[in-house]
Amino acid sequence: MPDDAGAAARDLLSYIEESPTPFHACAAAARRLGEAGFEEVGETDPWPHGGRHWFVRDGSLVAWVVPNGATATTPFRIVGAHTDSPNLRVKPNPDVRRAGAGLVAVEVYGGALYNSWLDRDLGIAGRLALRDGRITLVRVDHPVARIPQLAIHLDRNVNTEGLTLNPQQHLTPVWTLDTTAGFAAFVSAAAGVDETDVVFWDLMFHDVEPGALLGRDGELISAPRLDNLCSCWAAIEALIATAAQPAGAIAVAALFDHEEVGSSSNRGAASTLLATALERINGGLGGTRDDWHRAIAGSTCVSADMAHATHPNYPERHEPGHWIALGGGPVVKTNVSQRYASDARSVLPLLTACARAGIGVQQYTHRADLPCGSTIGPITAARLGISTVDIGAPQLSMHSARELMATADLAPYRDVMAAFLAG
Ligand code: ZN
Repeated sequence: MPDDAGAAARDLLSYIEESPTPFHACAAAARRLGEAGFEEVGETDPWPHGGRHWFVRDGSLVAWVVPNGATATTPFRIVGAHTDSPNLRVKPNPDVRRAGAGLVAVEVYGGALYNSWLDRDLGIAGRLALRDGRITLVRVDHPVARIPQLAIHLDRNVNTEGLTLNPQQHLTPVWTLDTTAGFAAFVSAAAGVDETDVVFWDLMFHDVEPGALLGRDGELISAPRLDNLCSCWAAIEALIATAAQPAGAIAVAALFDHEEVGSSSNRGAASTLLATALERINGGLGGTRDDWHRAIAGSTCVSADMAHATHPNYPERHEPGHWIALGGGPVVKTNVSQRYASDARSVLPLLTACARAGIGVQQYTHRADLPCGSTIGPITAARLGISTVDIGAPQLSMHSARELMATADLAPYRDVMAAFLAG
């Protein structure tokens, strides 16, 4: 394994470890940006003109670099990704008591593979809203809870007829044998606050087993939340690399929450988040309303989300003319129904960047007889009218609590984004 691939993999694993929730993913990205000389701005504050900055809105983050000499018609080069992953989220009244056990009531977030959450040691993380108006992050990384699978002796046909799980009934984690214990008291104590001061929460479970290099030579990465923290990591690292040598365009990395549930929220890709940020950056450069529209018309966007590698045990589920290899490099995703935004014009800046970086791409399209997933790409394109290309890094087990990708795919994925942002 080349040194760069190993270093990139360890760096990604540390980012994922730091990011059990979208809120933590933004905090971890912000820490990296701060260390690289970026400065945070508040959305309710006036913004400085030019420079390198970021802001956080809940589980979303936008960061940018304005090159010296930029004007009000300087276009944007944007890389977008998402901070959220399917998981199990704690309901407002969490305590369930059954058969001598204390359980935590949860709701499934996004399109999770339910079975992948069984028999895993789970930690808890998120944020608490406090009576004094503060919001505080909380995380517990030791095993707190577990969803025990039903023994095969009580479900004799499970291996031949398949596992059926009702999300209301069968995915409730066990966390204590003290049926007088309250989960809110436990979480409050973990956050170092009084339970009576907690007025609301956004809490979710995560797999506590750290990510790992796997395979004969560490050529695979086994980790939770690769979809889409891998793309968040690559986008932030690419923006930081671009900041060292800013070029013609204004380079932007936009990390959105809520992609897994449709992007419609105050901070999802369907919100005004990115449009507002771009307008304020452009406004800081002076110019007219027409200059703003000229800047947007010249802008391009890369929507970065993970791609389906061809599964060696299920090759028939994949389009036979478009197999995707783990370790085969970045993937351009196409879907004529606009589940992906790529088209002949939007791929050009990306392919030019790939050629400049000496990186080849793979071409993905879904089987014509299977419904295709989507990304923030078409939403961003529709919201802003910006030409957008959908790319990804190949992976297996998408939306499992534990996913798999190739170590060799990380550095090219990051480098292609850096080459694109550099214009
Ligand atoms: Zn995704």
